[in-house]
Amino acid sequence: MNEQVKQTAESGALFPMTIGGKAVMTGASFAVTNPATGEVVGYAPEAQASELDAAVAAAAEAFTSWAATDDATRAAACHAIADRIEAHAEELARLITLEQGKPLGGIGSMFEVQGAVGWCRYTAGLSLTAEVIASGEGGNVEKVRKPLGVVGSITPWNWPMLIAVWHILPAVRCGCTVVSKPSPFTPLATLRLVALMNEVLPAGVVNIVTGNDSTTNLGALMSAHKGIRKIVFTGSTPTGQSIMRSAADTLKRLTLELGGNDAGIVLPDVDPQAIAEGLFWGAFINAGQTCAALKRLYVHEDVYDAVCEALTAYVAKVRFGNGLDDGTVLGPVSNRMQFDKVVALVESAKAKGRVLIGGAPGEGLFYPPTLIADLENGDPLVDQEQFGPVLPIIKFRDVEDVIAAANANPAGLGGSVWSADPARARAIATRLECGTVWINQHGMIRPDAPFGGTKMSGLGVEFAQDGLHEYTDLQIVIS
Ligand code: NAD
Repeated sequence: MNEQVKQTAESGALFPMTIGGKAVMTGASFAVTNPATGEVVGYAPEAQASELDAAVAAAAEAFTSWAATDDATRAAACHAIADRIEAHAEELARLITLEQGKPLGGIGSMFEVQGAVGWCRYTAGLSLTAEVIASGEGGNVEKVRKPLGVVGSITPWNWPMLIAVWHILPAVRCGCTVVSKPSPFTPLATLRLVALMNEVLPAGVVNIVTGNDSTTNLGALMSAHKGIRKIVFTGSTPTGQSIMRSAADTLKRLTLELGGNDAGIVLPDVDPQAIAEGLFWGAFINAGQTCAALKRLYVHEDVYDAVCEALTAYVAKVRFGNGLDDGTVLGPVSNRMQFDKVVALVESAKAKGRVLIGGAPGEGLFYPPTLIADLENGDPLVDQEQFGPVLPIIKFRDVEDVIAAANANPAGLGGSVWSADPARARAIATRLECGTVWINQHGMIRPDAPFGGTKMSGLGVEFAQDGLHEYTDLQIVIS
């Protein structure tokens, strides 16, 4: 392994890209800063179109032999990747905290790294088996799944390493090869991840390029690149739409995991104290910067005040601060762009809503966990995805009205229903227009459950067998 990447993040190292199994630097680089302190964590290479072309060419060259490897070899490779991540868990977790802001412990960066390990191992256990549709005198018909080719992975800044694993592992498992492009806000852990993967994979199977969106927009170039057969993208809905437009000329396959504005519905039979912790984590995990976080909370009028009180009391005990400090539960907002969006949404909500707790920005990029009651559909904080540590609370009376209100949003990623009566909750839950719905919890994502958005929250699914199939072409063999 290149000595440069072994340096600790604090030394402000330049982290190389990996292309065709080799560490690659470029003439220019960009700084990645720690949202908790504003200090430089490290530097990532500023790639040009020529480096992207080289990464695609390396992936294309590796594809022929990787697609031809036997199934057991590719399963073993997924476990070997998991082993490398485990061996470097502390280094990777620290890097995630430094560049993204989430705490090291609790539901933070070590949780993210361990999740990545679990996903690698679960994906190793999946496989592409041929399926016989018909056999015998009427003819033989077989369904075969073949790896697509070169996959472009474009990832966001909120769970940078875990989402990179979500994209890369099923591709590798199927026999595809990959060009990864992380968010310019958080490229460092992914650069290290791909370097570690290259310790156990043949050259060219997984490559990575980095750059700033404002200079060479690599994501846009990837979306139109003739050598890439599929884009798997996690990020905002407008960027997903732009990718879909760019991908049209080459008819790329697409998996788009886009923005959410998940509604939670609290029925009158709940015990407010008992659900406060679940509501808190549903909304505030990773300081609210999670696609499938609870982003609008609708509470029945009978328990409205009690739920507001219980949740406020829970939030009051939560410590937010530098993710490296012991006891930190929530870190800062990850970057200035997102921080400004949160500030603007809270300020607009104050005119009408009642701030129960928080509501004023702290130092730097720190924003306290904030609850704002008495809002309704039509208010920007309810209608738009805040993607930060603030939750609007809306009072309702009638169940039919609240189902309509929850569904009256273009997003359709997740939703939840909270009730002492699971059957009643389920009947309401299945009427919500979203890809995943939870009962008495919110946000749990699992490697064995396909995950994806409906409406403007995306296209296709990730995880499990359904997710694996999205990296394949279906071929029918008739004899
Ligand atoms: P973003 O769309 O700004 O950026 C995501 C990635 O796209 C980055 O790597 C960026 O460099 C790249 N990019 C920018 N312009 C591009 C272009 N024109 N073409 C191709 N790629 C381009 O999103 P973000 O701010 O990093 O992430 C936050 C958003 O992601 C939120 O809306 C959140 O809900 C969503 N998200 C969704 C899921 C999900 O699974 N549905 C998961 C996590 C985050």
